[in-house]
Amino acid sequence: MDEKRPLGAPGSSSVPPTPTRMSSSAQLLDMGTSAGAAGASAATAAATVLASLPATLGAALGPLRSFRPPRMYVRSAQYVAATFVLLLLIVGGIARHSRPKVEAPSYAALNDAIYSAHAQKAFTPLVPISDADVPVEVLQARRRPKAALISLVRNSELEGIEQSMRHLEARFNKKYNYPWIFFNDEPFNDEFKARTQNLTSAECFYATVPKAHWSLPDWIDESRFISSLEYLGAIGVGKGWMISYRHMCRWNSGFFYKHPILDDYDWYWRVEPDVHFFCDIEYDPFTFMEENNLKYGFNMNILDDARSFPSMWRQTQEFMTEYPELIHPDADLSWIIDHRNDEEYNNCQFFSNFEIGSLDFFRSKTYNTYFDFIDRKGGFYYERFGDAPLHTLAVVLFLSKTETHFFRDIGYQHDINKQCPCKMFDKCSCEPTDLDENFYKLVPMESPQRKPDDSCIRLWLGGEWLERDEQGKYVKSGYEF
Ligand code: GDP
Ligand code: MN
Repeated sequence: MDEKRPLGAPGSSSVPPTPTRMSSSAQLLDMGTSAGAAGASAATAAATVLASLPATLGAALGPLRSFRPPRMYVRSAQYVAATFVLLLLIVGGIARHSRPKVEAPSYAALNDAIYSAHAQKAFTPLVPISDADVPVEVLQARRRPKAALISLVRNSELEGIEQSMRHLEARFNKKYNYPWIFFNDEPFNDEFKARTQNLTSAECFYATVPKAHWSLPDWIDESRFISSLEYLGAIGVGKGWMISYRHMCRWNSGFFYKHPILDDYDWYWRVEPDVHFFCDIEYDPFTFMEENNLKYGFNMNILDDARSFPSMWRQTQEFMTEYPELIHPDADLSWIIDHRNDEEYNNCQFFSNFEIGSLDFFRSKTYNTYFDFIDRKGGFYYERFGDAPLHTLAVVLFLSKTETHFFRDIGYQHDINKQCPCKMFDKCSCEPTDLDENFYKLVPMESPQRKPDDSCIRLWLGGEWLERDEQGKYVKSGYEF
């Protein structure tokens, strides 16, 4: 526990800690007292100078040496001087205090306020309404959100994206017919276009990423960047040595939503090559998001190798201190903060290879102020900032938790991470996985990196999802959700 700023641990009293800083009225009072004392001594000094003036003049003027001003004039001069100095001090004081206050709240004070207001709010799952019995013609004739399935992919990953498309088309899109938009840093070849279009009756679009969105910005020091590639490669951070991986993470963080091909869309569903969708999705997640005022959907909440973004949290704290007004009033930081360790980020993150999100959220001034702030510091190249922790921090800071959704019902696999819902046996071709299944998979047990109190998804769910019995077993089993 940080001794400098004690915080209530989860479950403890939600009364905010007593502020240690002096309140502004107390400060004013204190200023007034010391200003009074300073004023009196300055007045006495001025009066002394004024009183000695005639004597000095007298000395200079020789013949008038014997002249002594009447006592009453000296007194009056003292009063005038004292009043004048006091007036000056009062006017100066008022001017100083009427200037707008520029001092930003400290990060700790900000976090105290957010944490104590929202700690461990329990999650109530929203239940989508099934469209299973609605005929396809009716589904497709409905007014639908402006949405697209988007994928950044290389020509060489054609088979991988075919695999992902087959699954998603069979489980969802053959009924809903949302367009596919493929992005690449190089032009797609004809074979890629033909074979992908062949797998869907929806429209396919192929976009090339502008060079400016996929190259080293001019404020990056190249030799420092090259050292980082060598260093992260040498210590074994996944793909730490790949230049293209850095561009990819930065593009997914701050550029995908800027591509003009997405201008007419409000929603995206991110799809990677070689992923699996195991369950029938018998409702439209885009409509579901739109109708429930959701902005960001995920289906895994995990730990990843934090050596790729060691300074992201410190920079985010700086951002929070500089732009406190951009933080959502209902932001819930409680589940990403490690209260035992200096209020550090516990490294939990939405696994962003699966995302269903609002493009307007990413296009917002708030999000872009944050992205630009982080981008300028160079962490996409001096470290290997991922879009997953960046999206996560943005979603946590700029959205209310009620605008974020856990798509537990969308059975999904990306490489070794897999999640399969438990109440949908007849709709899925996967073995149900526990709620905590993917939590630590990408971080070796022996890794010294900071780990949270509990699995990331339970911290996010909060409330009763964290309760355990005397044996330490969860009261709410993962299989219930
Ligand atoms: P990981 O999931 O973090 O291991 O990263 P991936 O290698 O799967 O990359 C994430 C996504 O970006 C996938 O959809 C890749 O196809 C895509 N991607 C990564 N690097 C490049 C690249 O250099 N060019 C293109 N066009 N796509 C890329
Ligand atoms: Mn991947």
